[in-house]
Amino acid sequence: MANLLNNTFTTPYKTAPFSAIKNEDFLPAIKKEIQKTKEEINAITTNREAPTFKNTIEALEFSGEQLDRITSIFYNLNSAETNKEIQKLAQEISPLLSEFGNDIRLNETLFKRVKSVWEQKEKLNLNKEQQMLLEKTYKSFSRNGANLANDKKDILRDIDKQLSTLSLKFGENVLAETNNFELHITEENQLKGLPESALEAAAGEAKERNKDGWVFTLNYPSYIPLMTYAENRELRKKMSLAFGSKSFQGNKYDNREIIRQIANLRQQRAELLGYKTHAHFILEERMAKTPEKVTLFLEELLTKAKPAAKREYTQLENFAKELGSIDKLEKWDGAFYTEKLKQKLFNLDDEKLKPYFKLENVINGVFTVAERLYGLTFEETAEIDKYHKDVKTYKVLDENKELVSILYADFHPRGGKRNGAWMTVYKRQYKLNGENSRPHISIVCNFTKPTESKPSLLTFNEVTTLFHEFGHALHGMLANTTYPSLSGTSVYWDFVELPSQVLENWCYEKDALEIFAKHYQTEEIIPMEYVEKIKESATFMEGMQTLRQLSFGMLDMSWHGTDPSNIENVKKHEDAVFEATRLYPETPETCMSTAFSHIFQGGYSAGYYSYKWAEVLDADAFEYFKEKGIFSKEVATKFKNNVLSQGGIEDPMELYKRFRGKEPQPDALLRRAGLIEKK
Ligand SMILES: [Zn+2]
Repeated sequence: MANLLNNTFTTPYKTAPFSAIKNEDFLPAIKKEIQKTKEEINAITTNREAPTFKNTIEALEFSGEQLDRITSIFYNLNSAETNKEIQKLAQEISPLLSEFGNDIRLNETLFKRVKSVWEQKEKLNLNKEQQMLLEKTYKSFSRNGANLANDKKDILRDIDKQLSTLSLKFGENVLAETNNFELHITEENQLKGLPESALEAAAGEAKERNKDGWVFTLNYPSYIPLMTYAENRELRKKMSLAFGSKSFQGNKYDNREIIRQIANLRQQRAELLGYKTHAHFILEERMAKTPEKVTLFLEELLTKAKPAAKREYTQLENFAKELGSIDKLEKWDGAFYTEKLKQKLFNLDDEKLKPYFKLENVINGVFTVAERLYGLTFEETAEIDKYHKDVKTYKVLDENKELVSILYADFHPRGGKRNGAWMTVYKRQYKLNGENSRPHISIVCNFTKPTESKPSLLTFNEVTTLFHEFGHALHGMLANTTYPSLSGTSVYWDFVELPSQVLENWCYEKDALEIFAKHYQTEEIIPMEYVEKIKESATFMEGMQTLRQLSFGMLDMSWHGTDPSNIENVKKHEDAVFEATRLYPETPETCMSTAFSHIFQGGYSAGYYSYKWAEVLDADAFEYFKEKGIFSKEVATKFKNNVLSQGGIEDPMELYKRFRGKEPQPDALLRRAGLIEKK
């Protein structure tokens, strides 16, 4: 029998038995495990004993372990090493799993038992982690309407159905508007300034459409280079206005009515469940907790960043006036003149830096940083089965040579791998029956493959990406909790980027760069002058960037943090919100909300602030390291004991305060970005 269909894996460390897995095994194995998990849940609901934390909450938590392992293997492969067969299987497996999830959430007998434990929670003497698990379990039912009377449940289901149709429609409209626009150019002199790669891509696009010359679209890979490099101001204006007026043109793809409906339905849904607004509902399970706190956060940053943003705007406008003899800076000038000014000030490009960042050196660098901070060592091993020969496998050990984690690292692009870089989990950490079962973690990237004559040399951006994903991996590897669903990166959304972003800071520090940034031919350590320039250029025009991010966060909260039923004119509403953050002259043709996919289609509603929130956390945390030395064992141990090992077992604000001694303050971020005076 294939390994996948066995009840547990018999590989070393019970790692995924990749080489024994056949694609056709997935569906039967997953069906079998769903059935087994159903039986486990059935045993909970038919238990004749009164519900207790152990026989209900814990039993539910530890049910379906093998199902979890097999599905994680399946979905990880679908991202990192997929093919037609796996993609087709995903279309069968995903509905099975979501139906199974719904069955659990709608299981009234199960909810009754969970609720009975929840109602006795004061008397049960639970520790913090158990309290958190109980709350999380109870809320997974109540937030989906389990407490509602049947007629209200029907209303809720109807709202959810409408919402999913409307979000879909919203997305289709934005996509149609994106695809319906093209900028067709037939004279090359119109395209002065554009780099060769952008011209080639535009010529390819034209060819695909059976046209001469060049075609530019509103997709980012086409849009961004044109806005950044095209000297022709009229072209930039045309593109910018087209981009900004998506689904705001009064045609059949207009989203104004749709977003009003979405916002109002979300409000109704929240009220039905007993929350004041949709943002109150969402933020209940976030570190920020309330819309009031988010608003205060955004406003404080705005007050502090605005003077710098205005200074930068004036600097940019003066530079543009000088260079381009324009009389006023407009939205479509921003990226263009920013790039020109950046080149003038820094003259730093990837090709100069890449020789200092050979992949193997950077990997050793990040391992050494982890060793000096957390005492970890990384032993490459051939003992562990892998899904592709290029994947590297490591045993991660602590100071006592005890196994901390298994680590997979998959660095190079392949046909079956999706774009980008990510950290993922093959097996979560947990404690059961006195055993601390260690996790299996993976990082997947798309760095250029080495050739026979040239090693893999990373851009600086790729270096920070590797540190970022490795930071997530540390969160997973150092996990030390009892319950798998609270382990590692299973934390509130606005907290999950702290471990990853904080580690990026080491890439800008001389003491860390000296470990790994060595020229691949001469072994020369990266010149300090480059390091300084990297630092400065990383925060170039940060004030204006900050205002832009804040304006999106505020727009999001304006739709979700108060009752939206009074919003009648979408554009007027948006203009009023943007008033406080506006730098460029307003353009009546454009509207952000009608194409704001993060909040009306993706899962970022009442969550856009998290980008800045995470930056504040990471800057504040890193400042503590800087105070005591970036390799301070004292600070690292505090970070490990209170953040990295603790997963989601407590409210993140409590964990953070225990690490830092106080709540995070935005000033560290503003100092790092050069927006306020350094200490
Ligand atoms: Zn991340």
